[in-house]
Amino acid sequence: MPTKYIFVTGGVSSSLGKGIFCASLGRLLTAHGLKVTIQKLDPYINVDPGTMNPYEHGEVYVTDDGAESDLDLGHYERFLDYPTSQANNVTTGRVYQEVIRKERAGAYLGRTVQVVPHIIDEIKRRILRLADNAAYDVVLCEIGGTVGDIESLPFLEAIRQLRYELDHACTVSAHLTLVPYLAAAGELKTKPTQHSVKTLLSFGLQPDMLVCRSDRRLGIELRRKIALFCNVEAQAVIAAVDAESIYEVPVNLAAQGVDRLVLAQLNLLGGIQTPKPDISGWMGFLERLKSPTSTITVALVGKYVAHQDAYKSISESFVLAGAELGISIRVRYVLSDTILERGVVSVLEGVAGVVVAPGFGRRGIEGKIEAVRYARTRDIPFFGICLGLQCAIIEFARNVCGWKGANSTEFDPTSPYPVIDFMEEQRGLETKGGTMRLGGYACHLVTGSLAYRIYGQEEVRERHRHRYEVNNEHRAALEEAGLCFTGLNVARNLVEIAELPAKRWFLGTQFHPEYRSRVGNPHPLFTSFAAAALAYTIEQWPAGSSAAS
Ligand code: GLN
Repeated sequence: MPTKYIFVTGGVSSSLGKGIFCASLGRLLTAHGLKVTIQKLDPYINVDPGTMNPYEHGEVYVTDDGAESDLDLGHYERFLDYPTSQANNVTTGRVYQEVIRKERAGAYLGRTVQVVPHIIDEIKRRILRLADNAAYDVVLCEIGGTVGDIESLPFLEAIRQLRYELDHACTVSAHLTLVPYLAAAGELKTKPTQHSVKTLLSFGLQPDMLVCRSDRRLGIELRRKIALFCNVEAQAVIAAVDAESIYEVPVNLAAQGVDRLVLAQLNLLGGIQTPKPDISGWMGFLERLKSPTSTITVALVGKYVAHQDAYKSISESFVLAGAELGISIRVRYVLSDTILERGVVSVLEGVAGVVVAPGFGRRGIEGKIEAVRYARTRDIPFFGICLGLQCAIIEFARNVCGWKGANSTEFDPTSPYPVIDFMEEQRGLETKGGTMRLGGYACHLVTGSLAYRIYGQEEVRERHRHRYEVNNEHRAALEEAGLCFTGLNVARNLVEIAELPAKRWFLGTQFHPEYRSRVGNPHPLFTSFAAAALAYTIEQWPAGSSAAS
């Protein structure tokens, strides 16, 4: 069977949730027994989002093979429970980089290199590559941006050509739009959707399905009207009413038969292994998500907290861990600078756990170190992730070992105690993009440690994104003072996990466990940390006493 493609575009407005739609539809198709992957095409010129500030772009998601990619890939992995790779995120920058490389190598000798055909061909090659070796039955291909943007034109043209070239039953075009409610008129309005479809038509693309976002029910009359004016079947006008949680979306789509519609068009209805999607596991997860028995509050200390997408995988990891434990985990986002401005006690008082977030650069560091001190000295569950681990080591060095001026050379290159330092291979590097320690590395756990007990195994593999490491020269002295290095990269002799066994739950990881949380299978470190925070909550504020929030 040839690989089938579902192309997903968006119109009227950005932030309509194309990524969640793709992840949800992908999840339903896997529930029919199909092998599915999702690809994101991003129109910006950065080769990847790794060089962008989280305020520009949100979180950078890292795949096991070391791609710094769009945060939608995180949704894809969490929903589908299947790893993505370098091939799953294609940017305009990456496409041009390859075409220009080939041009310099003489691959187009004698010819003028142009958007049509060379750029378009390179985009098509990258889309079709996912069909190699019949690895997937269905590829969902999400085009970033909004239809009509100048920069996404080459992607739309590539899709138009693929729809023309591939067999009719091999592709579906789904278009997400917004159906706004005008309070003054007391009505939902379909005109923006009609205009958006016209724009899409002007690029030669007729959608087969319209997914209409709205804040209230879309009646049948309205859907018939949209169908008539946009030339799609009435049953293919899907209502995507705002959901309480993104995890409801697959269920809402299944209720409208979106999976069957798509399968019918792709000629897959007869042959698929499971005619009805098996979403019982997902339903069980939703049930737990919607009926928490208690609520706890943990602080997430970082410097990009004003942007709701900057720590996406961490916040979703808490949602998933909460469902696993049957509790609701409220995350209090704490801007690290405010800890110094307003005092750590006033900012962190009442939390049942402290997470210090990943990050880069000097700003906000002292506030993070103060947050570690607060958690350590009061024995509040503490979880440091990447930079969070590095801050925990600096805090320990300064306040337990008494090493004045201990720091990371990222923030103080002349520190007398550089407990966190550049990796040797990073020293000569002059370029920034894609040059960190990236992707999955093996980590060996020390038997009997907290980490070992949580994972229940000796060897694990976790994903990284950083330039600096715990400085081996100071390891012995830190251990002497009570810090335990319980996760190690044996091949490179690097610290991956540090713990304070004297505390109830004090652990930091050099890697990013948040990238491996899945629906129904949250990362065990998050679940264990949340369970410790729950125990702390019960101990501090037993039922009946006024719980802190
Ligand atoms: N800035 C630190 C480093 O590069 C930590 C990076 C991170 O938290 N992802 O090592």
